[in-house]
Amino acid sequence: MSAPRTTTAPPASPLIESEDRRALREAVAALGRRYGREYFQRKARANEPVEELWADAAKLGYLGVNLPAEHGGGGAGISELAIVLEELGAAGCPLLMMIVSPAICGTVIARFGTEEQKRRWLPGLADGSKVMAFGITEPDAGSNSHRIGTVARRDGEDWLLSGRKVFISGVDHADAVLFVGRTEDARTGKLKPALFVVPRDTPGFEYRAIPMELTAPERQFQVFLDDVRLPADALVGDEDAGLLQLFAGLNPERIMTAAFTLGIARYALDTAVGYARTRTVWDRPIGTHQGIAHPLAQCAIEIELARLMTQKAAHLYDAGDDLGAGEAANMAKYAAGEASCRAVDQAVQTLGGNGLTQEYGLAALITATRVGRVAPVSREMILNYVAQHTLGLPRSY
Ligand SMILES: Cc1cc2nc3c(=O)[nH]c(=O)nc-3n(C[C@H](O)[C@H](O)[C@H](O)COP(=O)(O)OP(=O)(O)OC[C@H]3O[C@@H](n4cnc5c(N)ncnc54)[C@H](O)[C@@H]3O)c2cc1C
Repeated sequence: MSAPRTTTAPPASPLIESEDRRALREAVAALGRRYGREYFQRKARANEPVEELWADAAKLGYLGVNLPAEHGGGGAGISELAIVLEELGAAGCPLLMMIVSPAICGTVIARFGTEEQKRRWLPGLADGSKVMAFGITEPDAGSNSHRIGTVARRDGEDWLLSGRKVFISGVDHADAVLFVGRTEDARTGKLKPALFVVPRDTPGFEYRAIPMELTAPERQFQVFLDDVRLPADALVGDEDAGLLQLFAGLNPERIMTAAFTLGIARYALDTAVGYARTRTVWDRPIGTHQGIAHPLAQCAIEIELARLMTQKAAHLYDAGDDLGAGEAANMAKYAAGEASCRAVDQAVQTLGGNGLTQEYGLAALITATRVGRVAPVSREMILNYVAQHTLGLPRSY
């Protein structure tokens, strides 16, 4: 006779979450349930920030869970921050600005900022009282970030930053934006990437909302930087290591985007499964029909696979393996984006007409999940990355 299977919790490993992380999941899920989809949709329709949820999540230490403890954060990692975002999304409240403010900006400043920059920004990012947006995308560069034309020139001790950005999320409610620009190498004259923190009220910084077909609390903006004068310490980290610093922020961005879309996917799947269990139009619930049940089962499998990949990417990142995390984070973002587009599509189909009503809160997720396919790096650019770096195939561009 085989030994009885144990009923105690399995030991923690990168594949199996520790008790602490499971407890964090449950606590965040409880907060998410207190607010719920209806609250989020109301705010989203009014294009208002979800201030109350943001403040509560911050008060409980969730928003800064990845930031260093000596600067007011929780001292944990991107794994924990991704759990927070996924669980809030699964409750119907996906907080896009978590990808940007604590994950990209907080990480870059914590890892590469001066002591003064850390003191100035991290406590506020951790307790949610400050929000920082992130601006890399440009109208004439798009996916080709080597073509970025935002340039910082020295003017005495100061910098003068000029350029244009597009699709920058949440500028209107941010205290500052972390911009990716370029500086000129004094020796070679070549332009190299560099990161600048620009407070939103700096003269010469203008922004205009882009009308988007998204129902979300955050809006996207065009930004115009016209000889924006910045003090020397607006530059984050080392002028010569801009690319390295940028990548330190982009891996968390991809991991968090995966968590964002996974949360949405779980919300959609839960809603669909709940509906399929009870909705009866013949003599049994529609979930009995394999035409409804199998696609939902497929979604559940794809979501779980994407979650595992996301956990792997977060684990590698938290362990300090930026290179290994790069491949995993790209794969996780891709897998989560695809899984969530399919889950939302199938959920809408499962609910029939109700899939498109405001009451069930699914229709707005169709465009929300599409964002995960396009941003912060498109599905095609991830396939390019994997083809080139994982498979060693030649590059087409
Ligand atoms: C809701 C939303 C929020 C965003 N928030 C931010 C933000 O806060 N900060 C920020 O900096 N940016 C943000 N972005 C911008 C986002 O990162 C870009 O939209 C994305 O990087 C793609 O750039 P693009 O839109 O210029 O598309 P393009 O680069 O013009 O690409 C268009 C299409 O061509 C494909 N393509 C391009 N090059 C290749 C190639 N070599 N091989 C194969 N296919 C290719 C792309 O995959 C895509 O399908 C946001 C975008 C959205 C939609």
